[in-house]
Amino acid sequence: MYDWLVVGAGFAGSVLAERLASQRGDRVLLIDRRPHLAGNAHDRLDAAGVLIHVYGPHIFHTNAGAIVDYLSSFTDWRDYEHRVLAQVDGKLLPIPINLDTVNRLYGLDLDSAGMERFLAERAEPVDDIRTSEDVVVSTVGRDLYEKFFRGYTRKQWGVDPSELSRTVTARIPTRTNRDDRYFTDSFQKMPAEGYTRMFERMVDHPLIETALGVDYADIKDQVSFRRMVFTGPVDEFFGHRLGRLPYRSLRFQHETLDKPWHQPVAVVNYPQTEEYTRVTEYKHMTGQDHPKTSLTYEYPTAEGDPFYPVPRPENEALYKQYQALARATPDVWFVGRLATYRYYNMDQVVGQALATFARIDSALPRKGTGAMKSAAE
Ligand code: FAD
Ligand code: UDP
Repeated sequence: MYDWLVVGAGFAGSVLAERLASQRGDRVLLIDRRPHLAGNAHDRLDAAGVLIHVYGPHIFHTNAGAIVDYLSSFTDWRDYEHRVLAQVDGKLLPIPINLDTVNRLYGLDLDSAGMERFLAERAEPVDDIRTSEDVVVSTVGRDLYEKFFRGYTRKQWGVDPSELSRTVTARIPTRTNRDDRYFTDSFQKMPAEGYTRMFERMVDHPLIETALGVDYADIKDQVSFRRMVFTGPVDEFFGHRLGRLPYRSLRFQHETLDKPWHQPVAVVNYPQTEEYTRVTEYKHMTGQDHPKTSLTYEYPTAEGDPFYPVPRPENEALYKQYQALARATPDVWFVGRLATYRYYNMDQVVGQALATFARIDSALPRKGTGAMKSAAE
Protein backbone atom coordinates (compact mmCIF):
# COMPACT_ATOMS: atom_id res chain seq x y z
CA MET A 1 0.00 0.00 0.00
CA TYR A 2 1.39 3.37 -1.04
CA ASP A 3 0.70 6.41 1.11
CA TRP A 4 0.40 8.49 -2.07
CA LEU A 5 -0.20 8.06 -5.75
CA VAL A 6 1.18 11.14 -7.52
CA VAL A 7 -0.15 11.48 -11.08
CA GLY A 8 2.20 13.48 -13.32
CA ALA A 9 5.99 13.81 -13.02
CA GLY A 10 6.25 17.48 -14.02
CA PHE A 11 7.10 20.25 -11.56
CA ALA A 12 3.86 19.90 -9.57
CA GLY A 13 4.01 16.13 -9.13
CA SER A 14 7.77 15.76 -8.68
CA VAL A 15 8.04 18.51 -6.06
CA LEU A 16 5.19 16.94 -4.07
CA ALA A 17 6.62 13.43 -4.37
CA GLU A 18 9.99 14.72 -3.14
CA ARG A 19 8.49 16.64 -0.19
CA LEU A 20 6.15 13.83 0.89
CA ALA A 21 8.95 11.27 0.86
CA SER A 22 11.80 13.34 2.29
CA GLN A 23 9.90 15.40 4.87
CA ARG A 24 7.18 13.01 6.01
CA GLY A 25 8.67 9.60 5.32
CA ASP A 26 5.63 8.74 3.16
CA ARG A 27 5.79 6.03 0.51
CA VAL A 28 5.04 7.44 -2.95
CA LEU A 29 4.24 6.00 -6.35
CA LEU A 30 4.93 8.70 -8.97
CA ILE A 31 3.53 8.02 -12.46
CA ASP A 32 3.45 9.82 -15.78
CA ARG A 33 1.76 8.71 -18.96
CA ARG A 34 4.61 10.12 -21.02
CA PRO A 35 7.81 8.08 -21.02
CA HIS A 36 9.95 10.67 -19.23
CA LEU A 37 10.35 12.87 -16.15
CA ALA A 38 10.03 16.68 -16.01
CA GLY A 39 6.65 17.12 -17.73
CA ASN A 40 6.72 19.94 -20.23
CA ALA A 41 10.15 21.01 -19.02
CA HIS A 42 11.65 17.74 -20.27
CA ASP A 43 14.96 18.12 -22.12
CA ARG A 44 17.26 15.57 -23.72
CA LEU A 45 20.15 15.20 -26.13
CA ASP A 46 18.88 14.84 -29.70
CA ALA A 47 20.37 12.46 -32.28
CA ALA A 48 23.21 14.91 -32.96
CA GLY A 49 23.98 15.27 -29.24
CA VAL A 50 22.53 18.79 -28.88
CA LEU A 51 20.54 19.44 -25.68
CA ILE A 52 16.99 20.38 -26.72
CA HIS A 53 13.76 21.12 -24.89
CA VAL A 54 11.29 18.61 -26.26
CA TYR A 55 8.27 20.85 -25.56
CA GLY A 56 9.67 24.23 -26.51
CA PRO A 57 11.90 26.79 -24.77
CA HIS A 58 11.90 26.76 -20.96
CA ILE A 59 13.71 29.57 -19.17
CA PHE A 60 13.67 29.59 -15.39
CA HIS A 61 12.98 33.01 -13.86
CA THR A 62 11.61 34.07 -10.47
CA ASN A 63 11.66 36.70 -7.75
CA ALA A 64 11.06 34.11 -5.02
CA GLY A 65 14.23 33.28 -3.09
CA ALA A 66 12.59 30.34 -1.32
CA ILE A 67 11.84 28.65 -4.66
CA VAL A 68 15.43 29.12 -5.83
CA ASP A 69 16.73 27.74 -2.52
CA TYR A 70 14.50 24.69 -2.84
CA LEU A 71 15.47 23.85 -6.44
CA SER A 72 19.14 24.54 -5.75
CA SER A 73 19.20 21.33 -3.67
CA PHE A 74 18.89 19.46 -6.97
CA THR A 75 20.85 21.52 -9.47
CA ASP A 76 23.58 24.07 -10.06
CA TRP A 77 22.72 26.96 -12.35
CA ARG A 78 24.19 28.69 -15.38
CA ASP A 79 23.70 32.41 -15.95
CA TYR A 80 21.38 33.20 -18.84
CA GLU A 81 19.26 36.25 -19.59
CA HIS A 82 16.61 35.60 -22.21
CA ARG A 83 16.34 37.92 -25.21
CA VAL A 84 13.76 37.62 -27.98
CA LEU A 85 13.55 39.31 -31.38
CA ALA A 86 10.38 39.62 -33.45
CA GLN A 87 10.47 39.67 -37.22
CA VAL A 88 8.28 42.67 -38.10
CA ASP A 89 8.13 44.46 -41.45
CA GLY A 90 11.22 42.49 -42.49
CA LYS A 91 13.32 43.64 -39.50
CA LEU A 92 14.41 41.74 -36.38
CA LEU A 93 13.29 43.97 -33.49
CA PRO A 94 13.35 43.60 -29.70
CA ILE A 95 10.17 42.28 -28.03
CA PRO A 96 9.02 43.35 -25.38
CA ILE A 97 8.64 46.63 -27.26
CA ASN A 98 11.29 49.09 -26.05
CA LEU A 99 12.94 52.33 -27.20
CA ASP A 100 15.04 50.56 -29.84
CA THR A 101 11.99 48.71 -31.18
CA VAL A 102 10.16 51.96 -31.88
CA ASN A 103 13.19 53.86 -33.18
CA ARG A 104 14.24 51.11 -35.56
CA LEU A 105 10.74 50.26 -36.74
CA TYR A 106 9.79 53.85 -37.58
CA GLY A 107 13.28 55.25 -38.34
CA LEU A 108 13.14 57.65 -35.36
CA ASP A 109 15.69 58.84 -32.81
CA LEU A 110 13.51 59.26 -29.72
CA ASP A 111 14.77 59.32 -26.15
CA SER A 112 12.69 57.78 -23.33
CA ALA A 113 10.63 60.93 -22.80
CA GLY A 114 10.06 61.13 -26.55
CA MET A 115 8.87 57.52 -26.62
CA GLU A 116 6.49 58.18 -23.75
CA ARG A 117 4.97 61.08 -25.73
CA PHE A 118 4.92 58.94 -28.90
CA LEU A 119 2.96 56.21 -27.13
CA ALA A 120 0.66 58.64 -25.31
CA GLU A 121 -0.36 60.14 -28.66
CA ARG A 122 -1.22 56.72 -30.05
CA ALA A 123 -2.62 54.84 -27.03
CA GLU A 124 -6.38 54.34 -27.30
CA PRO A 125 -8.34 55.11 -24.15
CA VAL A 126 -10.12 52.00 -22.84
CA ASP A 127 -12.39 52.49 -19.80
CA ASP A 128 -12.41 48.93 -18.60
CA ILE A 129 -9.36 46.89 -19.60
CA ARG A 130 -10.75 43.39 -19.89
CA THR A 131 -9.25 41.74 -22.98
CA SER A 132 -5.82 41.05 -24.39
CA GLU A 133 -6.53 43.63 -27.12
CA ASP A 134 -7.47 46.29 -24.54
CA VAL A 135 -4.18 45.87 -22.66
CA VAL A 136 -2.04 46.48 -25.72
CA VAL A 137 -3.99 49.16 -27.62
CA SER A 138 -4.39 51.19 -24.43
CA THR A 139 -0.61 51.15 -23.94
CA VAL A 140 1.01 51.32 -27.39
CA GLY A 141 -1.82 52.05 -29.82
CA ARG A 142 -3.21 50.14 -32.76
CA ASP A 143 -0.24 50.03 -35.17
CA LEU A 144 2.21 48.36 -32.75
CA TYR A 145 -0.64 46.11 -31.59
CA GLU A 146 -1.33 44.97 -35.15
CA LYS A 147 2.34 44.41 -35.96
CA PHE A 148 3.50 42.62 -32.80
CA PHE A 149 0.47 41.15 -31.04
CA ARG A 150 -2.61 40.57 -33.14
CA GLY A 151 -1.23 38.02 -35.61
CA TYR A 152 0.91 36.19 -33.07
CA THR A 153 -1.97 35.90 -30.62
CA ARG A 154 -4.44 34.71 -33.27
CA LYS A 155 -1.97 32.02 -34.33
CA GLN A 156 -1.06 30.99 -30.80
CA TRP A 157 -4.57 30.83 -29.36
CA GLY A 158 -6.82 30.37 -32.41
CA VAL A 159 -8.95 33.35 -31.31
CA ASP A 160 -8.65 37.11 -31.59
CA PRO A 161 -6.96 38.95 -28.66
CA SER A 162 -10.32 40.70 -28.08
CA GLU A 163 -11.67 37.28 -27.00
CA LEU A 164 -8.89 36.46 -24.52
CA SER A 165 -8.57 37.69 -20.94
CA ARG A 166 -6.15 40.54 -20.46
CA THR A 167 -3.78 38.33 -18.47
CA VAL A 168 -2.42 36.75 -21.68
CA THR A 169 -0.81 39.73 -23.40
CA ALA A 170 -0.30 41.46 -20.03
CA ARG A 171 2.57 38.98 -19.60
CA ILE A 172 4.54 41.16 -22.03
CA PRO A 173 5.52 44.62 -20.71
CA THR A 174 6.24 47.80 -22.72
CA ARG A 175 9.46 49.65 -21.93
CA THR A 176 10.58 53.16 -22.76
CA ASN A 177 14.22 52.33 -21.96
CA ARG A 178 16.63 50.10 -23.89
CA ASP A 179 16.33 47.01 -21.66
CA ASP A 180 15.86 44.15 -24.14
CA ARG A 181 15.61 41.28 -21.66
CA TYR A 182 12.43 39.21 -21.93
CA PHE A 183 12.20 38.90 -18.13
CA THR A 184 13.31 41.30 -15.41
CA ASP A 185 13.10 38.85 -12.47
CA SER A 186 15.93 38.99 -9.95
CA PHE A 187 16.83 35.33 -10.65
CA GLN A 188 17.01 34.06 -14.24
CA LYS A 189 19.20 31.06 -14.88
CA MET A 190 19.14 27.63 -16.47
CA PRO A 191 19.72 24.36 -14.61
CA ALA A 192 23.38 23.66 -15.34
CA GLU A 193 22.88 20.08 -16.55
CA GLY A 194 19.35 20.59 -17.82
CA TYR A 195 15.86 20.16 -16.37
CA THR A 196 15.63 16.38 -16.67
CA ARG A 197 18.83 15.90 -14.65
CA MET A 198 17.39 18.18 -11.94
CA PHE A 199 14.21 16.08 -11.82
CA GLU A 200 16.20 12.83 -11.67
CA ARG A 201 17.89 14.11 -8.51
CA MET A 202 14.59 15.34 -7.09
CA VAL A 203 12.84 11.99 -7.27
CA ASP A 204 15.89 9.88 -6.41
CA HIS A 205 14.66 8.81 -2.96
CA PRO A 206 14.23 5.30 -1.53
CA LEU A 207 10.57 6.02 -0.70
CA ILE A 208 9.69 7.17 -4.25
CA GLU A 209 8.92 4.59 -6.89
CA THR A 210 8.64 6.05 -10.39
CA ALA A 211 6.64 4.45 -13.21
CA LEU A 212 6.82 6.21 -16.59
CA GLY A 213 4.59 5.55 -19.62
CA VAL A 214 1.77 4.71 -17.20
CA ASP A 215 -1.67 6.34 -17.39
CA TYR A 216 -3.70 6.84 -14.23
CA ALA A 217 -6.79 5.46 -15.98
CA ASP A 218 -4.99 2.14 -16.59
CA ILE A 219 -3.75 1.55 -13.05
CA LYS A 220 -6.19 3.22 -10.72
CA ASP A 221 -8.00 0.01 -9.90
CA GLN A 222 -4.84 -2.07 -9.65
CA VAL A 223 -2.74 -0.06 -7.22
CA SER A 224 -3.67 0.55 -3.63
CA PHE A 225 -2.92 3.96 -2.17
CA ARG A 226 -4.30 6.12 0.62
CA ARG A 227 -4.24 9.55 -0.98
CA MET A 228 -3.53 11.14 -4.31
CA VAL A 229 -1.94 14.21 -5.88
CA PHE A 230 -3.36 14.79 -9.38
CA THR A 231 -1.56 17.13 -11.81
CA GLY A 232 -3.27 16.21 -15.11
CA PRO A 233 -6.24 18.05 -16.67
CA VAL A 234 -8.93 18.52 -14.02
CA ASP A 235 -11.83 17.96 -16.45
CA GLU A 236 -10.32 14.65 -17.52
CA PHE A 237 -10.17 13.51 -13.88
CA PHE A 238 -13.93 14.01 -13.65
CA GLY A 239 -14.64 12.30 -16.98
CA HIS A 240 -15.48 15.69 -18.59
CA ARG A 241 -18.81 15.45 -16.83
CA LEU A 242 -19.40 19.23 -16.91
CA GLY A 243 -18.01 19.64 -20.43
CA ARG A 244 -14.50 19.99 -21.83
CA LEU A 245 -12.12 22.68 -20.66
CA PRO A 246 -10.18 23.91 -23.71
CA TYR A 247 -6.40 23.53 -23.59
CA ARG A 248 -4.25 24.92 -26.39
CA SER A 249 -1.71 22.52 -27.86
CA LEU A 250 1.44 22.82 -29.96
CA ARG A 251 3.12 20.70 -32.59
CA PHE A 252 6.88 20.91 -32.26
CA GLN A 253 9.10 20.47 -35.29
CA HIS A 254 12.68 19.84 -34.23
CA GLU A 255 15.60 20.05 -36.65
CA THR A 256 19.39 20.00 -36.52
CA LEU A 257 21.54 22.08 -38.86
CA ASP A 258 25.06 21.27 -39.91
CA LYS A 259 26.42 24.66 -38.86
CA PRO A 260 27.14 26.13 -35.42
CA TRP A 261 24.55 28.94 -35.33
CA HIS A 262 21.25 29.84 -37.03
CA GLN A 263 19.87 33.04 -35.45
CA PRO A 264 21.23 35.85 -33.23
CA VAL A 265 19.20 35.02 -30.09
CA ALA A 266 17.55 31.97 -28.53
CA VAL A 267 14.04 32.83 -29.72
CA VAL A 268 12.75 34.67 -32.80
CA ASN A 269 8.99 35.42 -32.91
CA TYR A 270 6.99 35.62 -36.16
CA PRO A 271 3.92 37.79 -35.51
CA GLN A 272 3.21 38.66 -39.17
CA THR A 273 4.38 35.76 -41.30
CA GLU A 274 4.74 31.95 -41.16
CA GLU A 275 2.45 29.32 -39.68
CA TYR A 276 4.72 28.81 -36.69
CA THR A 277 4.84 31.35 -33.86
CA ARG A 278 8.50 31.16 -32.93
CA VAL A 279 11.82 29.45 -33.59
CA THR A 280 14.10 28.45 -30.72
CA GLU A 281 17.82 27.79 -30.96
CA TYR A 282 18.83 26.02 -27.76
CA LYS A 283 22.58 26.54 -27.64
CA HIS A 284 22.05 30.21 -26.77
CA MET A 285 20.26 29.10 -23.58
CA THR A 286 22.25 26.04 -22.63
CA GLY A 287 25.72 27.33 -23.48
CA GLN A 288 26.52 23.99 -25.10
CA ASP A 289 29.62 23.97 -27.30
CA HIS A 290 28.74 21.87 -30.37
CA PRO A 291 29.57 22.16 -34.09
CA LYS A 292 25.88 21.68 -35.01
CA THR A 293 22.80 23.54 -33.82
CA SER A 294 19.24 22.40 -33.12
CA LEU A 295 16.02 24.37 -33.54
CA THR A 296 12.36 23.98 -32.68
CA TYR A 297 9.45 25.46 -34.66
CA GLU A 298 6.17 25.79 -32.72
CA TYR A 299 2.90 25.26 -34.60
CA PRO A 300 -0.16 25.96 -32.42
CA THR A 301 -3.05 23.47 -32.65
CA ALA A 302 -6.36 22.79 -30.96
CA GLU A 303 -5.76 19.03 -30.74
CA GLY A 304 -2.91 17.23 -29.00
CA ASP A 305 -1.25 17.22 -25.58
CA PRO A 306 -2.69 19.96 -23.37
CA PHE A 307 -0.09 22.71 -22.93
CA TYR A 308 -1.95 25.92 -22.11
CA PRO A 309 -5.23 26.65 -20.32
CA VAL A 310 -7.09 29.21 -22.45
CA PRO A 311 -7.81 32.29 -20.29
CA ARG A 312 -11.32 33.45 -21.28
CA PRO A 313 -14.22 34.29 -18.94
CA GLU A 314 -16.36 31.31 -19.99
CA ASN A 315 -13.47 28.88 -19.48
CA GLU A 316 -12.70 30.37 -16.09
CA ALA A 317 -16.38 29.95 -15.14
CA LEU A 318 -16.36 26.28 -16.18
CA TYR A 319 -13.11 25.72 -14.29
CA LYS A 320 -14.74 27.15 -11.12
CA GLN A 321 -17.36 24.39 -11.38
CA TYR A 322 -14.62 21.73 -11.68
CA GLN A 323 -12.80 23.39 -8.80
CA ALA A 324 -15.91 22.94 -6.66
CA LEU A 325 -15.98 19.24 -7.58
CA ALA A 326 -12.25 18.98 -6.79
CA ARG A 327 -12.74 20.57 -3.38
CA ALA A 328 -15.50 18.09 -2.63
CA THR A 329 -13.28 15.11 -3.50
CA PRO A 330 -11.67 13.79 -0.32
CA ASP A 331 -8.05 12.66 -0.24
CA VAL A 332 -7.15 14.08 -3.66
CA TRP A 333 -5.06 17.24 -4.05
CA PHE A 334 -5.17 19.01 -7.43
CA VAL A 335 -1.96 20.88 -8.26
CA GLY A 336 -0.26 22.46 -11.29
CA ARG A 337 -1.05 24.16 -14.56
CA LEU A 338 -3.55 21.60 -15.89
CA ALA A 339 -5.23 20.57 -12.64
CA THR A 340 -5.85 24.17 -11.49
CA TYR A 341 -6.32 25.56 -15.03
CA ARG A 342 -3.86 28.42 -14.51
CA TYR A 343 -1.39 29.88 -17.01
CA TYR A 344 1.48 29.36 -14.55
CA ASN A 345 5.22 29.61 -15.12
CA MET A 346 7.49 26.96 -13.66
CA ASP A 347 8.34 28.93 -10.52
CA GLN A 348 4.64 29.53 -9.81
CA VAL A 349 3.96 25.79 -10.07
CA VAL A 350 6.83 25.05 -7.67
CA GLY A 351 5.41 27.68 -5.29
CA GLN A 352 1.93 26.18 -5.54
CA ALA A 353 3.32 22.68 -4.91
CA LEU A 354 5.33 23.79 -1.86
CA ALA A 355 2.27 25.60 -0.47
CA THR A 356 0.14 22.49 -1.05
CA PHE A 357 2.72 20.40 0.76
CA ALA A 358 2.58 22.77 3.75
CA ARG A 359 -1.22 22.41 3.84
CA ILE A 360 -1.03 18.62 3.59
CA ASP A 361 1.63 18.45 6.28
CA SER A 362 -0.35 20.55 8.70
CA ALA A 363 -3.59 18.64 8.03
CA LEU A 364 -2.25 15.08 8.24
CA PRO A 365 -0.20 13.77 11.15
CA ARG A 366 3.22 12.54 10.11
CA LYS A 367 3.83 8.82 10.40
CA GLY A 368 4.22 7.78 14.01
CA THR A 369 3.40 11.23 15.37
CA GLY A 370 -0.37 10.59 15.46
CA ALA A 371 0.15 7.50 17.59
CA MET A 372 2.66 9.27 19.85
CA LYS A 373 0.22 12.12 20.33
CA SER A 374 -2.62 9.88 21.36
CA ALA A 375 -0.32 7.87 23.65
CA ALA A 376 0.73 11.10 25.34
CA GLU A 377 -2.82 12.35 25.74
P1 FAD B 1 3.12 19.42 -16.64
O1 FAD B 1 4.55 19.73 -16.89
O2 FAD B 1 2.16 19.45 -17.78
O3 FAD B 1 3.05 18.00 -15.93
C1 FAD B 1 1.85 17.27 -15.81
C2 FAD B 1 2.17 15.83 -16.18
O4 FAD B 1 1.05 15.01 -15.88
C3 FAD B 1 2.48 15.65 -17.66
O5 FAD B 1 3.81 15.20 -17.83
C4 FAD B 1 1.45 14.62 -18.12
O6 FAD B 1 1.98 13.69 -19.05
C5 FAD B 1 1.04 13.96 -16.82
N1 FAD B 1 -0.32 13.41 -16.85
C6 FAD B 1 -1.45 14.07 -17.18
N2 FAD B 1 -2.50 13.23 -17.09
C7 FAD B 1 -2.02 12.02 -16.70
C8 FAD B 1 -2.62 10.75 -16.45
N3 FAD B 1 -3.95 10.56 -16.59
N4 FAD B 1 -1.83 9.73 -16.07
C9 FAD B 1 -0.48 9.92 -15.95
N5 FAD B 1 0.13 11.09 -16.18
C10 FAD B 1 -0.62 12.14 -16.55
N6 FAD B 1 7.50 28.27 -17.75
C11 FAD B 1 8.53 29.07 -17.35
O7 FAD B 1 8.66 29.34 -16.15
N7 FAD B 1 9.44 29.55 -18.26
C12 FAD B 1 9.37 29.26 -19.59
O8 FAD B 1 10.21 29.71 -20.37
C13 FAD B 1 8.28 28.43 -20.04
N8 FAD B 1 8.16 28.13 -21.35
C14 FAD B 1 7.14 27.31 -21.76
C15 FAD B 1 7.05 27.00 -23.12
C16 FAD B 1 6.03 26.16 -23.55
C17 FAD B 1 5.94 25.82 -25.01
C18 FAD B 1 5.08 25.63 -22.62
C19 FAD B 1 3.97 24.74 -23.09
C20 FAD B 1 5.17 25.95 -21.29
C21 FAD B 1 6.19 26.80 -20.83
N9 FAD B 1 6.33 27.12 -19.48
C22 FAD B 1 7.36 27.94 -19.06
C23 FAD B 1 5.37 26.63 -18.47
C24 FAD B 1 5.84 25.32 -17.81
O9 FAD B 1 5.95 24.32 -18.80
C25 FAD B 1 4.82 24.91 -16.76
O10 FAD B 1 4.63 25.92 -15.80
C26 FAD B 1 5.19 23.65 -15.99
O11 FAD B 1 5.85 22.70 -16.78
C27 FAD B 1 3.93 23.06 -15.42
O12 FAD B 1 4.22 21.95 -14.60
P2 FAD B 1 3.04 20.98 -14.18
O13 FAD B 1 3.65 19.92 -13.33
O14 FAD B 1 1.90 21.75 -13.63
O15 FAD B 1 2.48 20.39 -15.56
N1 UDP C 1 2.62 37.76 -27.62
C1 UDP C 1 2.47 38.33 -28.85
N2 UDP C 1 3.58 38.61 -29.60
C2 UDP C 1 4.82 38.30 -29.18
C3 UDP C 1 4.98 37.70 -27.91
C4 UDP C 1 3.85 37.42 -27.15
O1 UDP C 1 1.36 38.59 -29.29
O2 UDP C 1 5.80 38.55 -29.91
C5 UDP C 1 1.41 37.47 -26.82
C6 UDP C 1 0.77 36.15 -27.24
O3 UDP C 1 -0.63 36.23 -27.05
C7 UDP C 1 1.41 35.19 -26.26
C8 UDP C 1 1.38 36.02 -24.99
O4 UDP C 1 1.72 37.36 -25.45
O5 UDP C 1 0.67 34.00 -26.15
C9 UDP C 1 2.32 35.60 -23.90
O6 UDP C 1 3.63 35.47 -24.44
P1 UDP C 1 4.72 34.51 -23.76
O7 UDP C 1 5.99 34.69 -24.49
O8 UDP C 1 4.71 34.74 -22.29
O9 UDP C 1 4.10 33.07 -24.09
P2 UDP C 1 4.58 31.58 -23.70
O10 UDP C 1 6.08 31.59 -23.62
O11 UDP C 1 3.90 31.27 -22.41
O12 UDP C 1 4.06 30.77 -24.84
